[in-house]
Formats: sequence, C-alpha cells, structure tokens
Amino acid sequence: MSQKLLKNIDLVITFNDREETFEHCDILIEEAAIRDIGSNLNAAGDAEIIDCNGLTALPGFVNTHHHLYQTLFRGIEEVQEQPLFPWLIGLYEFWKNITPEAVYYGALVGFSELLRTGCTLTSDHHYVFPKGQPTTLIDEQIKAAREIGIRFHATRGSMSLGRDMGGLPPMEVVQTEEAILLDSERLINRYHDNGPYSMQRIALAPCSPFSVSRQLMLDSKDLARKKGVMLHTHLAETQDEERFCLERYGRRPFELMEDLEWVGDDVWFAHGIYLNDGEIDRLQGSGIAHCPSSNMKLSSGICKTTEIIRAGGKLSIAVDGSASNDGSNMWEEVRRAYLLNHLKYGTDGLTAYEILKAATRGGADVLGRDDTGRLSAGKAADIVLFNLNGIEYSGCHDPLVSLVCLGNSSLVSMTIVNGKIVVKNGKLTTIDSDEAAKNAHNTAVEIINRQRNSTKNN
Ligand SMILES: [Zn+2]
Repeated sequence: MSQKLLKNIDLVITFNDREETFEHCDILIEEAAIRDIGSNLNAAGDAEIIDCNGLTALPGFVNTHHHLYQTLFRGIEEVQEQPLFPWLIGLYEFWKNITPEAVYYGALVGFSELLRTGCTLTSDHHYVFPKGQPTTLIDEQIKAAREIGIRFHATRGSMSLGRDMGGLPPMEVVQTEEAILLDSERLINRYHDNGPYSMQRIALAPCSPFSVSRQLMLDSKDLARKKGVMLHTHLAETQDEERFCLERYGRRPFELMEDLEWVGDDVWFAHGIYLNDGEIDRLQGSGIAHCPSSNMKLSSGICKTTEIIRAGGKLSIAVDGSASNDGSNMWEEVRRAYLLNHLKYGTDGLTAYEILKAATRGGADVLGRDDTGRLSAGKAADIVLFNLNGIEYSGCHDPLVSLVCLGNSSLVSMTIVNGKIVVKNGKLTTIDSDEAAKNAHNTAVEIINRQRNSTKNN
C-alpha cells in the first residue's frame, strides 16, 4: 500500500458533510484515497512525507463545462468581438478543419492550465466531428487525460441539424443521427467506468437546441438512461436561443427540456442564464455549469447564481470553451463568479465560502460524484495546496477571501489527483509542457492558415 503523508498543513477547508475546517493538521493518503485527516498522524515506514507547513488545502476544483479543442482557436480576429451566434458561425469555418492531432493537443493545453490552477476533475463537451476525419476524436482526449493524469468526464457531443435543415452549423460539421448514436454507444462501452475513484466517465451531450433535432435529444436520453450515463447540453445561454426555441418549438428552452424529460439528477446544463424563477424551482436536481468569463465575453447575460443556490439547486463553476474565455484558469473563474454575482446581487451576493463550495463539492455533485469534491476519509485524494503567505495576501483577515479575491493565486503549489502529485511548485510532473506547447501551437497555426488561404482563393 503506497502512502503519502501531507504534514503540518496550516489550514484544511474540507467542504465535508459537517462543513469542517481544520488548522495545523495532516492528511494521510493511501493509494487513490484519503485515509485520515487529523493531528500528528502516523504513516507506514515507507510512506512519502511531504512538509506542508505554510500551505492551505482545498478539495481540487471541478470544472463542469469546457470545449478543449477550442484552446487552439483563441484570439481569432474574425470573431473576437462577436456575440454567440455570429461568433459560432465564424468559428465553424475553422473548426471544420480539426484533426485528431488537434483534438489531442487541444486537450493537453487545456488540461495543463486546469491542473496548474487547481482543477482535479474536468468535464469536456466535444461536438465537432468534421466530415472526412476519423470519428475517434474523444479517444484522443482520453489518451491525453491519461497521460497528464487528470480525472476526466468526456461527453460525446453532437450536431445533426445543419444549415440546410434550419440549424446553425454548416453541413461539413454535422453527422447523421445514426452515426452519432453508434459512436456514443461505442464510447460508453469502451471507456465508461462507474466505480468509485473512476478516472474516466462518458456522458451524452447533444450540442444545443439549435444544432440537433428533437429526435436526437430523445434518442440520446434513451441511450443514456439505458446505459446509466449522464446527459449534458447548452441551455438558456442567450436570448437568440430563446427566440429560436419559441419560433421552432413554441417552447422556452427549459420547457423544451421538460417536454423531452431531460430534467433530473442525471442532467446538467451549461449556462442556464435565461431560466425564470419558476424554471429554477423546477430543475429537480439538474445541475448548472456557470461560466462567468464566457458569459461576459460573449455578452450573453448573468446567471441567477444566488437564486439557484437559495432554491437548493446544484450550482457549479466552469471555464467554458477556451475561444470564449479565453483561458482555462479555474482560479480566475472562481474570482469572476464571485465578482459577477456581486455585480448582480450586491449585499445579497454569495460569500467566498459559497463560491468555493460551488467550485469544488458543487461541481462534483453536478457530475454525479460523491467520492470527490470534499476532503474526508474514504474520499478520493484530489487535493490542491497553495501558499497564502506571500506579500500579496498580507493584511487579509480571512483566508477564504484571500483565496477568492486577492493576489495572484492562479498557480498552485501542488495539485494531487487520485493520490498522485501532478503539479509541484506550479509545474506539471507528468508531461513535457514545452514540447506540448510547441506542437499544439504549430498544429493550430497550420489549421488557421489553411482556412484563411482557402477563403482568400475562393
Ligand atoms: Zn459551451
């Protein structure tokens, strides 16, 4: 049994069932899980002892919504200042050229930043499967997740409603519904691990009401419930989407989900900005992935975060795709969630504790996990440690406020995933970041140039 003993941690914020925090204590890790938290713990003779004096520990952040491939499409001048629909229409022209290699490197780039900013479990929503490319793109992401050592919930996204059929995306990036469902089943059979401390799960994720048919939503739901996997989609992100749903289906976006029985503990939605109060009360355990940077960048609106929490809803925090953020920095996202909440609610705003809880335990709950997102014996050893003793934190009387509002806490001292140290002193221990950065950038430049040249020549 391999053990690690994190000794003399200044402060441990657990988000456990009793909402405990501990000062000056140890965490004993055995294999993938936390064995004990307490003072003066003993470890086996061959245990690795790590001095954590001066450090604060939290459960690792859980990112519930991303589009990792977009890390290669940041700062594209053709769309940089556009709102969602024109932004998507412009970017589909580049995305239709993505290759398996691009998906692999895009994932490595996103995972790297997530891990270095304290995220230990991330979801991704990959929905672009261009014609003429292998469809094994999610396999590439899973390969990257295994190499770098992040806990990963891939979602098999899909787009079937192309422009010729009244949808938004061009026909080059939509697939037949038969192909989508076959590949969804293949991925679940091959990769989905429902056990405790699972490092990879699959969920099904038709992209949005304006890029798939009603039938695909129904078929995906049936397949997911038959196989016991979760469902995910974009919902109530913009007023354009609301208009689209009212015109095409005569229903508001969330009403459409209710009609389709896409509501409950096994469903989570990205954004949920344009949910009205009655809809927030009818979420029935469906989770929300709140993406503050993306919502600001695309001028989408502000999620009703306080109402969701006060109504007992499941709120989590997510970076969203890198082309609309443009980073994958969980610390920044936590801070922006706090600030955006306070812009909207003033003194009724969520506290630093509530925001951190949404980013950790809240995210785990949204993804259907009770084995991570909190620190206690028997839970996964997904732990992030950071140093609050720098001058940028001096004079702050509340470590939680320090974490959320102060200084440059974007790089953590240590990120531990499933009992393994994946980041140490801000650096990844598992991959050569310089090499990955070079390959990712070259792959991105090639795709962008190819598209720009073909537009010029037409
Ligand atoms: Zn998204």
